[in-house]
Amino acid sequence: DAHHRVLVVGGGSAGIATAASLLKRDCGLDLAVIEPSDDHYYQPGFTMVGGGVFKPADTVRKTAKVMPRGATWIRASVARFEPDDNAVVLCDGKRVTYDVLVVALGNRLAWEQVEGLEAALGRNGVTSNYRYDLAPYTWQLVQELKARGGAQRALFTQPPMPIKCAGAPQKAMYLSCSEWEKAGVLDGFEVEFHNAGGVLFGVPEYVPALMETVERYGIDLKFGSTLVAVDGPSRQATFRTEAGEVTRGFDMLHAVPPQVGNPVVAGSALADAGGYVEVDQNTLRHVRYANAFGLGDGCSTGNAKTAAAARKQAPVAAVNVLAALAGKEPCASYDGYGSCPLTVDRGHIVLAEFTYGGKVAPSLPKWLIEGTRPSRLAWHLKADALPPIYWHGMLKGREWLVPPAPLL
Ligand code: FAD
Repeated sequence: DAHHRVLVVGGGSAGIATAASLLKRDCGLDLAVIEPSDDHYYQPGFTMVGGGVFKPADTVRKTAKVMPRGATWIRASVARFEPDDNAVVLCDGKRVTYDVLVVALGNRLAWEQVEGLEAALGRNGVTSNYRYDLAPYTWQLVQELKARGGAQRALFTQPPMPIKCAGAPQKAMYLSCSEWEKAGVLDGFEVEFHNAGGVLFGVPEYVPALMETVERYGIDLKFGSTLVAVDGPSRQATFRTEAGEVTRGFDMLHAVPPQVGNPVVAGSALADAGGYVEVDQNTLRHVRYANAFGLGDGCSTGNAKTAAAARKQAPVAAVNVLAALAGKEPCASYDGYGSCPLTVDRGHIVLAEFTYGGKVAPSLPKWLIEGTRPSRLAWHLKADALPPIYWHGMLKGREWLVPPAPLL
């Protein structure tokens, strides 16, 4: 069996950031990253692709290019964890053993939980910013509806929590409406937000600015309305509500898939009941395996599942992994920081930043960005500053470029 002192499973936002942070702290560390994909995605940029602001190519790099220097890239999928033997088994049957394990496998988009959705995507007006290849279709549809004008119906959906970037379903809607408003066609449109939950956003401080946005665009809010089936060719979406099933025709449907833990984690001794890696919410160390850590969308912590959270978690995980290698107890603590830049129109963002318990935690002074109000500076942060901070700061382990107040 191959052996590495540190084995990072998953080379997404959290895995690469942690590997980079570890190697910055100890450049001689024997560390491997298991990641099957040739491409690494900056998913926070997908919303901007769907809004016609970024090009798809702005949101992807070769994995080989983001792999930290000094890391061994194992280009494979993990099939199974064997934490009692300090081993993982790859899809080709090979085993890799470790002293310390870091699991960062993200979550899984469960498209199949909505009948007919997967088959409908990419045609007949059905789209989703949750997939790299579909985000451009969102923008294409926005343009098509704008060109047609008249009476159009656009439906936007949000599945039950937890999902990654809980604000992304409404961001897609606001950016679409912003474009239609500018073109003077929005008044004739029916825009509906079908939200499986009961609130616009989980942290109440941000809700007033979002409600004003909903009113500005004349959006019909449907709480407790869960997308359960899509018929692409006949352009019909079916929702489960308290009052029974409701079917709505549409010209455009932006669907966000239900999300679950990564199946490889879910089927292992590392998982909690929901299929997420069961870690202590502050140290990110596994609650049963002292030499295993978990972070990112695939772990059990109750923060908002965002790259912003992963950015703040990565150095905490790195410090605590090094402590574990030295036989010591964890010494760094994660406060639950997460951030959601809510694009209320093209040019303004409500920059939600908060820690565990929904405690508002702005990174910048209020006179620069008042997080609970739409801000132009916050837009520039998202559109211009955060992508380079991601590629050149977070993924490189340059924590001086990513000061203690993280802003992804
Ligand atoms: P990922 O980045 O998804 O990485 C998981 C990795 O695991 C992948 O590379 C995958 O290939 C790999 N993997 C999966 N299975 C296996 C296996 N069996 N073996 C080995 N490797 C495997 N965050 C923000 O901070 N701000 C935003 O504005 C924002 N907007 C978003 C908008 C959209 C539309 C989406 C989809 C996400 C958004 N996010 C945003 C969320 C952010 O992208 C995620 O929180 C972040 O990518 C989580 O990192 P991760 O490493 O946990 O998961």
